[in-house]
Amino acid sequence: MSKILFKNGIVVNSPKSKKLDLLVSGEKIIKLAPKIKATSDMEVIDCKGKYLFPGFIDGHTHFDLSVAGTTTIDDFYSGTKAAVSGGTTTIIDYGTQYKGETLEEGLKNWLNKAKDGVSCDYGVHMSISDWNEKAKEQVSLMIKEGVTSFKLYTTYDVKLEDKDLFEAMQEISKCGGITGVHCENDGMIAALRSEVKKEDDNKVKMHPLTRPDVAEAESVNKVVYYTENSGCPYIAVHVTNKKALDELKKAKEKKLPVYVETCPQYLYFDDSVYNKNFSEASKFVCAPPIRKKSDSEYLWKGIKSGLVDIVSTDHCSFTMKQKELGKDDFRKIPGGVNLVEYRGALLFDASCKKKIKIEDMARVLSENPAYLFGLYDRKGFLKKGFDADIVIIDPKKKTKLSVKSQVSKSDYCLFENKTLAGKIEKVYLRGKLVAENGNIVLENQGKYLKRKKYKII
Ligand SMILES: [Zn+2]
Repeated sequence: MSKILFKNGIVVNSPKSKKLDLLVSGEKIIKLAPKIKATSDMEVIDCKGKYLFPGFIDGHTHFDLSVAGTTTIDDFYSGTKAAVSGGTTTIIDYGTQYKGETLEEGLKNWLNKAKDGVSCDYGVHMSISDWNEKAKEQVSLMIKEGVTSFKLYTTYDVKLEDKDLFEAMQEISKCGGITGVHCENDGMIAALRSEVKKEDDNKVKMHPLTRPDVAEAESVNKVVYYTENSGCPYIAVHVTNKKALDELKKAKEKKLPVYVETCPQYLYFDDSVYNKNFSEASKFVCAPPIRKKSDSEYLWKGIKSGLVDIVSTDHCSFTMKQKELGKDDFRKIPGGVNLVEYRGALLFDASCKKKIKIEDMARVLSENPAYLFGLYDRKGFLKKGFDADIVIIDPKKKTKLSVKSQVSKSDYCLFENKTLAGKIEKVYLRGKLVAENGNIVLENQGKYLKRKKYKII
Protein backbone atom coordinates (compact mmCIF):
# COMPACT_ATOMS: atom_id res chain seq x y z
CA MET A 1 0.00 0.00 0.00
CA SER A 2 1.45 3.34 -0.98
CA LYS A 3 2.19 5.71 1.86
CA ILE A 4 2.49 9.48 1.72
CA LEU A 5 3.91 11.55 4.56
CA PHE A 6 2.92 15.22 4.60
CA LYS A 7 5.57 16.89 6.73
CA ASN A 8 5.63 20.19 8.62
CA GLY A 9 2.29 21.52 7.41
CA ILE A 10 -0.40 23.32 9.39
CA VAL A 11 -3.37 20.97 9.68
CA VAL A 12 -6.63 22.92 9.68
CA ASN A 13 -9.55 21.57 11.68
CA SER A 14 -11.83 23.78 13.78
CA PRO A 15 -11.60 25.08 16.42
CA LYS A 16 -7.80 25.16 16.21
CA SER A 17 -5.20 24.49 13.53
CA LYS A 18 -2.05 22.63 14.51
CA LYS A 19 1.38 22.06 13.07
CA LEU A 20 1.37 18.30 12.52
CA ASP A 21 2.78 15.64 10.26
CA LEU A 22 0.12 13.58 8.55
CA LEU A 23 0.53 10.06 7.23
CA VAL A 24 -1.64 8.52 4.53
CA SER A 25 -1.79 4.87 3.61
CA GLY A 26 -3.81 3.94 0.54
CA GLU A 27 -7.07 5.88 0.70
CA LYS A 28 -6.98 6.77 4.40
CA ILE A 29 -5.29 9.05 6.90
CA ILE A 30 -3.61 6.69 9.35
CA LYS A 31 -1.71 8.99 11.70
CA LEU A 32 -1.28 12.60 12.79
CA ALA A 33 1.52 13.58 15.16
CA PRO A 34 3.91 16.47 15.82
CA LYS A 35 6.70 14.38 14.29
CA ILE A 36 6.39 11.26 12.16
CA LYS A 37 9.64 9.66 11.08
CA ALA A 38 9.95 9.09 7.34
CA THR A 39 10.73 5.54 6.27
CA SER A 40 11.81 4.24 2.88
CA ASP A 41 8.31 3.08 1.93
CA MET A 42 6.91 6.64 2.12
CA GLU A 43 6.67 9.42 -0.39
CA VAL A 44 7.47 12.60 1.57
CA ILE A 45 5.80 15.92 0.71
CA ASP A 46 7.33 18.91 2.44
CA CYS A 47 4.49 21.23 3.51
CA LYS A 48 6.52 23.74 5.50
CA GLY A 49 4.61 27.03 5.72
CA LYS A 50 1.62 25.50 3.95
CA TYR A 51 -1.89 24.68 5.09
CA LEU A 52 -3.54 21.28 4.85
CA PHE A 53 -7.32 21.43 4.64
CA PRO A 54 -9.84 18.60 4.64
CA GLY A 55 -11.15 18.26 1.06
CA PHE A 56 -13.98 20.72 0.53
CA ILE A 57 -17.57 19.49 0.25
CA ASP A 58 -19.96 21.39 -2.02
CA GLY A 59 -23.49 20.44 -1.01
CA HIS A 60 -25.18 22.50 -3.70
CA THR A 61 -24.45 21.86 -7.36
CA HIS A 62 -26.60 21.51 -10.46
CA PHE A 63 -24.83 19.50 -13.12
CA ASP A 64 -26.58 18.50 -16.32
CA LEU A 65 -29.79 20.26 -15.29
CA SER A 66 -32.47 21.56 -17.65
CA VAL A 67 -33.34 25.18 -16.88
CA ALA A 68 -35.36 27.72 -18.88
CA GLY A 69 -35.35 25.67 -22.09
CA THR A 70 -31.65 24.88 -22.03
CA THR A 71 -29.22 22.65 -20.12
CA THR A 72 -26.37 23.68 -17.83
CA ILE A 73 -23.09 23.69 -19.72
CA ASP A 74 -21.35 21.63 -17.04
CA ASP A 75 -22.36 18.02 -16.69
CA PHE A 76 -21.01 15.59 -14.10
CA TYR A 77 -17.88 15.03 -16.17
CA SER A 78 -16.79 18.65 -16.61
CA GLY A 79 -18.40 19.89 -13.39
CA THR A 80 -16.57 17.48 -11.12
CA LYS A 81 -13.28 18.24 -12.88
CA ALA A 82 -13.89 21.92 -12.19
CA ALA A 83 -14.77 21.10 -8.57
CA VAL A 84 -11.69 19.05 -7.81
CA SER A 85 -9.35 21.53 -9.54
CA GLY A 86 -10.35 23.99 -6.82
CA GLY A 87 -10.08 21.62 -3.86
CA THR A 88 -13.66 20.34 -3.74
CA THR A 89 -13.29 16.59 -3.39
CA THR A 90 -16.99 15.88 -2.77
CA ILE A 91 -20.08 17.34 -4.38
CA ILE A 92 -23.70 16.60 -3.65
CA ASP A 93 -25.87 17.37 -6.63
CA TYR A 94 -29.60 18.03 -6.62
CA GLY A 95 -31.25 15.07 -8.30
CA THR A 96 -34.84 15.77 -9.24
CA GLN A 97 -38.03 13.79 -9.24
CA TYR A 98 -39.99 15.47 -12.03
CA LYS A 99 -43.78 15.39 -12.24
CA GLY A 100 -45.05 11.90 -13.03
CA GLU A 101 -41.86 10.19 -11.84
CA THR A 102 -41.27 8.26 -8.65
CA LEU A 103 -38.38 9.24 -6.37
CA GLU A 104 -36.71 5.97 -7.34
CA GLU A 105 -36.90 6.88 -11.05
CA GLY A 106 -35.62 10.38 -10.30
CA LEU A 107 -32.62 8.92 -8.48
CA LYS A 108 -31.91 6.38 -11.22
CA ASN A 109 -31.99 9.12 -13.87
CA TRP A 110 -29.62 11.24 -11.86
CA LEU A 111 -27.09 8.51 -11.17
CA ASN A 112 -27.12 7.78 -14.89
CA LYS A 113 -25.79 11.27 -15.57
CA ALA A 114 -22.48 10.24 -14.01
CA LYS A 115 -21.80 7.57 -16.66
CA ASP A 116 -19.06 9.52 -18.51
CA GLY A 117 -16.87 9.59 -15.45
CA VAL A 118 -16.71 11.70 -12.33
CA SER A 119 -13.57 13.29 -10.96
CA CYS A 120 -14.56 13.84 -7.34
CA ASP A 121 -16.68 11.82 -4.94
CA TYR A 122 -20.37 12.55 -5.24
CA GLY A 123 -23.73 12.09 -3.66
CA VAL A 124 -27.25 13.09 -4.61
CA HIS A 125 -29.97 14.94 -2.73
CA MET A 126 -33.49 14.23 -3.92
CA SER A 127 -35.66 17.16 -4.99
CA ILE A 128 -39.33 16.29 -4.65
CA SER A 129 -41.60 18.05 -7.12
CA ASP A 130 -44.53 15.63 -7.17
CA TRP A 131 -45.77 14.81 -3.68
CA ASN A 132 -48.14 11.84 -3.62
CA GLU A 133 -48.63 8.49 -1.84
CA LYS A 134 -45.83 6.82 -3.82
CA ALA A 135 -43.41 9.64 -3.06
CA LYS A 136 -44.33 9.40 0.61
CA GLU A 137 -43.64 5.68 0.55
CA GLN A 138 -40.25 6.14 -1.10
CA VAL A 139 -38.76 8.70 1.29
CA SER A 140 -37.52 5.84 3.48
CA LEU A 141 -36.27 3.98 0.40
CA MET A 142 -34.15 7.02 -0.55
CA ILE A 143 -32.61 7.06 2.91
CA LYS A 144 -31.82 3.36 2.58
CA GLU A 145 -30.08 4.14 -0.73
CA GLY A 146 -27.88 6.71 1.01
CA VAL A 147 -29.89 9.70 -0.16
CA THR A 148 -30.45 11.19 3.28
CA SER A 149 -31.13 14.78 2.27
CA PHE A 150 -33.95 16.26 0.23
CA LYS A 151 -34.85 19.51 -1.48
CA LEU A 152 -38.15 21.27 -1.67
CA TYR A 153 -39.07 24.44 -3.54
CA THR A 154 -41.59 27.16 -2.80
CA THR A 155 -41.29 28.63 -6.30
CA TYR A 156 -40.64 27.55 -9.93
CA ASP A 157 -42.59 24.76 -11.62
CA VAL A 158 -41.07 22.24 -9.21
CA LYS A 159 -42.68 23.99 -6.21
CA LEU A 160 -44.89 22.25 -3.69
CA GLU A 161 -48.05 23.89 -2.39
CA ASP A 162 -48.27 24.41 1.37
CA LYS A 163 -50.04 21.16 2.23
CA ASP A 164 -47.63 19.05 0.18
CA LEU A 165 -44.61 20.95 1.46
CA PHE A 166 -45.65 20.41 5.06
CA GLU A 167 -46.52 16.75 4.55
CA ALA A 168 -43.21 16.13 2.81
CA MET A 169 -41.40 17.70 5.78
CA GLN A 170 -43.40 15.54 8.18
CA GLU A 171 -42.41 12.38 6.33
CA ILE A 172 -38.75 13.36 5.91
CA SER A 173 -38.64 14.10 9.63
CA LYS A 174 -40.22 10.75 10.48
CA CYS A 175 -37.64 8.90 8.38
CA GLY A 176 -34.65 10.76 9.85
CA GLY A 177 -33.85 12.90 6.81
CA ILE A 178 -33.02 16.57 6.43
CA THR A 179 -34.25 18.95 3.76
CA GLY A 180 -33.01 22.04 2.00
CA VAL A 181 -35.74 24.42 0.92
CA HIS A 182 -35.50 27.05 -1.81
CA CYS A 183 -37.46 29.84 -0.20
CA GLU A 184 -39.04 32.66 -2.20
CA ASN A 185 -42.71 33.60 -2.08
CA ASP A 186 -43.98 32.49 -5.48
CA GLY A 187 -47.13 34.62 -5.51
CA MET A 188 -45.28 37.81 -4.69
CA ILE A 189 -42.74 37.18 -7.42
CA ALA A 190 -45.43 36.32 -9.98
CA ALA A 191 -47.32 39.54 -9.22
CA LEU A 192 -44.22 41.74 -9.39
CA ARG A 193 -43.07 40.11 -12.60
CA SER A 194 -46.44 40.55 -14.28
CA GLU A 195 -46.40 44.28 -13.44
CA VAL A 196 -43.18 44.97 -15.36
CA LYS A 197 -43.74 47.55 -18.12
CA LYS A 198 -43.15 46.45 -21.71
CA GLU A 199 -40.23 48.87 -22.14
CA ASP A 200 -38.50 47.29 -19.13
CA ASP A 201 -38.71 43.71 -20.40
CA ASN A 202 -35.12 43.77 -21.59
CA LYS A 203 -33.68 45.37 -18.47
CA VAL A 204 -31.74 43.03 -16.19
CA LYS A 205 -31.98 45.57 -13.36
CA MET A 206 -35.62 44.46 -13.00
CA HIS A 207 -34.47 41.00 -11.92
CA PRO A 208 -33.72 41.86 -8.24
CA LEU A 209 -36.71 44.21 -8.04
CA THR A 210 -39.09 41.40 -8.98
CA ARG A 211 -37.55 38.90 -6.54
CA PRO A 212 -37.14 41.09 -3.44
CA ASP A 213 -35.53 40.17 -0.13
CA VAL A 214 -38.92 40.18 1.62
CA ALA A 215 -40.18 37.45 -0.73
CA GLU A 216 -37.29 35.33 0.50
CA ALA A 217 -37.64 36.28 4.17
CA GLU A 218 -41.40 35.59 4.20
CA SER A 219 -40.90 32.15 2.76
CA VAL A 220 -38.02 31.35 5.13
CA ASN A 221 -40.23 32.40 8.02
CA LYS A 222 -42.99 30.04 6.86
CA VAL A 223 -40.66 27.08 6.57
CA VAL A 224 -39.20 27.79 10.02
CA TYR A 225 -42.72 27.40 11.40
CA TYR A 226 -43.17 24.17 9.41
CA THR A 227 -39.97 22.96 11.05
CA GLU A 228 -41.26 23.92 14.47
CA ASN A 229 -44.36 21.78 13.93
CA SER A 230 -42.99 18.88 11.88
CA GLY A 231 -39.59 18.62 13.57
CA CYS A 232 -38.00 18.32 10.15
CA PRO A 233 -34.44 19.67 10.06
CA TYR A 234 -34.31 22.49 7.53
CA ILE A 235 -31.36 23.93 5.65
CA ALA A 236 -32.16 27.41 4.37
CA VAL A 237 -30.27 27.17 1.09
CA HIS A 238 -28.58 30.14 -0.61
CA VAL A 239 -29.58 32.74 1.97
CA THR A 240 -28.90 36.18 0.51
CA ASN A 241 -30.03 38.89 2.90
CA LYS A 242 -30.33 40.28 6.40
CA LYS A 243 -34.11 39.95 6.71
CA ALA A 244 -34.03 36.23 5.92
CA LEU A 245 -30.98 35.71 8.10
CA ASP A 246 -32.69 37.43 11.04
CA GLU A 247 -35.62 35.00 10.76
CA LEU A 248 -33.15 32.12 10.87
CA LYS A 249 -31.27 33.64 13.79
CA LYS A 250 -34.50 33.74 15.79
CA ALA A 251 -35.19 30.11 14.89
CA LYS A 252 -31.71 29.08 16.01
CA GLU A 253 -32.20 30.95 19.28
CA LYS A 254 -35.32 28.83 19.79
CA LYS A 255 -33.08 25.77 19.27
CA LEU A 256 -34.97 24.62 16.21
CA PRO A 257 -33.04 22.31 13.85
CA VAL A 258 -32.46 25.08 11.33
CA TYR A 259 -29.24 25.54 9.34
CA VAL A 260 -28.01 28.28 7.04
CA GLU A 261 -26.25 28.06 3.72
CA THR A 262 -24.95 30.95 1.67
CA CYS A 263 -22.89 31.13 -1.53
CA PRO A 264 -19.97 33.25 -2.83
CA GLN A 265 -22.10 35.28 -5.24
CA TYR A 266 -23.96 36.75 -2.26
CA LEU A 267 -20.74 37.41 -0.35
CA TYR A 268 -18.70 39.04 -3.09
CA PHE A 269 -21.12 41.13 -5.15
CA ASP A 270 -23.98 43.58 -4.70
CA ASP A 271 -27.00 44.33 -6.84
CA SER A 272 -25.23 47.07 -8.81
CA VAL A 273 -24.03 44.19 -11.05
CA TYR A 274 -27.53 44.21 -12.59
CA ASN A 275 -27.19 47.83 -13.75
CA LYS A 276 -24.45 46.94 -16.24
CA ASN A 277 -25.07 46.20 -19.94
CA PHE A 278 -26.89 42.99 -20.82
CA SER A 279 -23.89 40.77 -21.43
CA GLU A 280 -22.29 41.76 -18.11
CA ALA A 281 -25.45 41.90 -16.01
CA SER A 282 -26.91 38.63 -17.30
CA LYS A 283 -23.84 36.73 -16.04
CA PHE A 284 -24.99 37.45 -12.50
CA VAL A 285 -28.63 36.44 -12.90
CA CYS A 286 -29.43 33.78 -10.34
CA ALA A 287 -32.29 33.21 -7.90
CA PRO A 288 -32.60 34.55 -5.35
CA PRO A 289 -30.78 37.58 -6.75
CA ILE A 290 -27.64 39.23 -5.41
CA ARG A 291 -28.60 41.86 -2.80
CA LYS A 292 -27.20 45.03 -1.23
CA LYS A 293 -23.68 45.54 0.05
CA SER A 294 -25.04 45.68 3.62
CA ASP A 295 -26.54 42.22 3.13
CA SER A 296 -23.26 40.71 2.02
CA GLU A 297 -21.47 42.29 4.99
CA TYR A 298 -24.10 40.75 7.25
CA LEU A 299 -23.48 37.35 5.68
CA TRP A 300 -19.72 37.61 6.25
CA LYS A 301 -20.38 38.41 9.88
CA GLY A 302 -22.70 35.41 10.01
CA ILE A 303 -19.87 33.12 8.91
CA LYS A 304 -17.66 34.50 11.67
CA SER A 305 -20.31 34.21 14.36
CA GLY A 306 -21.40 30.71 13.35
CA LEU A 307 -24.86 31.81 12.22
CA VAL A 308 -23.98 30.68 8.69
CA ASP A 309 -23.28 26.96 8.78
CA ILE A 310 -22.17 26.18 5.25
CA VAL A 311 -20.93 27.95 2.15
CA SER A 312 -21.81 26.08 -1.04
CA THR A 313 -21.81 27.37 -4.62
CA ASP A 314 -25.19 26.65 -6.24
CA HIS A 315 -23.07 26.01 -9.32
CA CYS A 316 -25.47 26.13 -12.27
CA SER A 317 -23.40 27.23 -15.21
CA PHE A 318 -24.23 28.60 -18.62
CA THR A 319 -22.41 30.21 -21.53
CA MET A 320 -22.88 33.81 -22.63
CA LYS A 321 -24.87 32.51 -25.59
CA GLN A 322 -27.27 30.67 -23.29
CA LYS A 323 -27.72 33.79 -21.16
CA GLU A 324 -28.80 35.58 -24.38
CA LEU A 325 -32.01 33.53 -24.36
CA GLY A 326 -33.28 36.37 -22.18
CA LYS A 327 -32.03 39.25 -24.30
CA ASP A 328 -35.55 40.57 -24.93
CA ASP A 329 -37.03 39.43 -21.63
CA PHE A 330 -34.94 39.29 -18.47
CA ARG A 331 -37.33 36.66 -17.09
CA LYS A 332 -36.03 34.18 -19.70
CA ILE A 333 -32.35 34.45 -18.74
CA PRO A 334 -31.30 31.03 -17.45
CA GLY A 335 -30.53 31.63 -13.78
CA GLY A 336 -27.28 30.42 -12.33
CA VAL A 337 -23.60 31.11 -11.91
CA ASN A 338 -20.36 29.25 -12.31
CA LEU A 339 -18.41 28.95 -9.06
CA VAL A 340 -17.68 25.33 -8.19
CA GLU A 341 -13.93 25.70 -8.73
CA TYR A 342 -13.48 29.06 -6.99
CA ARG A 343 -15.04 28.70 -3.54
CA GLY A 344 -11.97 27.41 -1.68
CA ALA A 345 -9.60 29.97 -3.21
CA LEU A 346 -12.03 32.80 -2.47
CA LEU A 347 -12.52 31.89 1.18
CA PHE A 348 -8.81 31.35 1.72
CA ASP A 349 -8.21 34.86 0.42
CA ALA A 350 -10.92 36.10 2.80
CA SER A 351 -9.12 34.42 5.70
CA CYS A 352 -5.86 36.13 4.69
CA LYS A 353 -7.73 39.44 4.74
CA LYS A 354 -9.09 38.58 8.21
CA LYS A 355 -12.72 38.62 7.13
CA ILE A 356 -12.98 35.11 8.57
CA LYS A 357 -10.65 32.78 10.43
CA ILE A 358 -8.93 29.93 8.69
CA GLU A 359 -10.83 27.50 10.95
CA ASP A 360 -14.13 29.12 9.88
CA MET A 361 -13.20 28.12 6.38
CA ALA A 362 -12.76 24.46 7.34
CA ARG A 363 -16.02 24.59 9.27
CA VAL A 364 -18.23 25.99 6.48
CA LEU A 365 -16.54 24.20 3.58
CA SER A 366 -15.86 20.79 5.06
CA GLU A 367 -16.94 20.03 8.62
CA ASN A 368 -20.53 21.29 8.72
CA PRO A 369 -21.40 19.90 5.28
CA ALA A 370 -20.04 16.54 6.50
CA TYR A 371 -22.38 16.64 9.50
CA LEU A 372 -25.49 17.81 7.65
CA PHE A 373 -25.04 15.50 4.69
CA GLY A 374 -24.11 12.37 6.63
CA LEU A 375 -20.43 12.10 5.69
CA TYR A 376 -18.98 12.83 9.13
CA ASP A 377 -17.61 9.31 9.52
CA ARG A 378 -15.19 9.60 6.60
CA LYS A 379 -15.00 13.14 5.18
CA GLY A 380 -14.81 16.75 6.31
CA PHE A 381 -11.96 16.37 8.83
CA LEU A 382 -8.26 15.60 8.78
CA LYS A 383 -8.44 12.80 11.33
CA LYS A 384 -7.16 9.28 11.71
CA GLY A 385 -9.35 6.81 9.81
CA PHE A 386 -10.82 9.44 7.51
CA ASP A 387 -10.54 9.56 3.72
CA ALA A 388 -7.30 11.17 2.62
CA ASP A 389 -9.04 14.05 0.84
CA ILE A 390 -6.44 16.76 1.35
CA VAL A 391 -6.02 20.26 -0.06
CA ILE A 392 -2.61 21.92 0.23
CA ILE A 393 -2.57 25.70 0.08
CA ASP A 394 0.54 27.85 -0.12
CA PRO A 395 -0.24 31.22 1.50
CA LYS A 396 2.83 32.87 -0.02
CA LYS A 397 1.71 32.37 -3.60
CA LYS A 398 -1.12 34.09 -5.43
CA THR A 399 -3.98 32.95 -7.67
CA LYS A 400 -5.28 34.85 -10.65
CA LEU A 401 -8.82 33.97 -11.63
CA SER A 402 -9.65 34.06 -15.32
CA VAL A 403 -11.72 32.26 -17.90
CA LYS A 404 -8.41 31.42 -19.61
CA SER A 405 -7.48 28.98 -16.88
CA GLN A 406 -11.04 27.96 -15.98
CA VAL A 407 -11.88 24.26 -15.93
CA SER A 408 -15.67 24.69 -16.09
CA LYS A 409 -17.01 24.77 -19.66
CA SER A 410 -18.67 28.13 -19.08
CA ASP A 411 -17.05 30.85 -21.22
CA TYR A 412 -16.86 33.57 -18.61
CA CYS A 413 -15.58 33.98 -15.07
CA LEU A 414 -17.42 36.22 -12.60
CA PHE A 415 -14.06 37.13 -11.06
CA GLU A 416 -12.15 37.82 -14.28
CA ASN A 417 -8.61 39.03 -13.50
CA LYS A 418 -9.12 39.05 -9.75
CA THR A 419 -5.94 38.18 -7.85
CA LEU A 420 -6.27 36.24 -4.61
CA ALA A 421 -3.84 35.62 -1.79
CA GLY A 422 -2.77 31.97 -1.61
CA LYS A 423 -2.70 29.14 -4.08
CA ILE A 424 -4.28 25.72 -4.01
CA GLU A 425 -1.22 23.69 -4.96
CA LYS A 426 -2.25 20.09 -4.60
CA VAL A 427 -5.53 18.23 -4.21
CA TYR A 428 -5.67 14.61 -3.08
CA LEU A 429 -8.77 12.48 -3.39
CA ARG A 430 -8.65 9.37 -1.19
CA GLY A 431 -4.86 9.44 -1.23
CA LYS A 432 -4.40 10.09 -4.95
CA LEU A 433 -3.04 13.35 -6.33
CA VAL A 434 -5.83 14.47 -8.68
CA ALA A 435 -5.13 18.18 -9.24
CA GLU A 436 -2.06 20.36 -9.14
CA ASN A 437 -1.99 24.16 -9.47
CA GLY A 438 -5.51 24.19 -10.87
CA ASN A 439 -4.86 21.47 -13.45
CA ILE A 440 -6.34 18.00 -13.39
CA VAL A 441 -3.60 15.39 -13.23
CA LEU A 442 -5.81 12.34 -12.72
CA GLU A 443 -9.45 12.25 -13.78
CA ASN A 444 -12.46 9.98 -13.25
CA GLN A 445 -11.50 8.87 -9.73
CA GLY A 446 -14.85 9.85 -8.15
CA LYS A 447 -17.10 7.34 -6.40
CA TYR A 448 -20.77 7.48 -5.46
CA LEU A 449 -21.30 8.08 -1.74
CA LYS A 450 -24.09 6.37 0.14
CA ARG A 451 -24.57 8.76 3.02
CA LYS A 452 -25.59 8.30 6.65
CA LYS A 453 -28.33 10.29 8.31
CA TYR A 454 -27.42 13.86 9.25
CA LYS A 455 -25.90 14.66 12.62
CA ILE A 456 -26.91 17.76 14.54
CA ILE A 457 -24.18 20.39 14.57
ZN1 LIG B 1 -29.68 25.66 -6.47
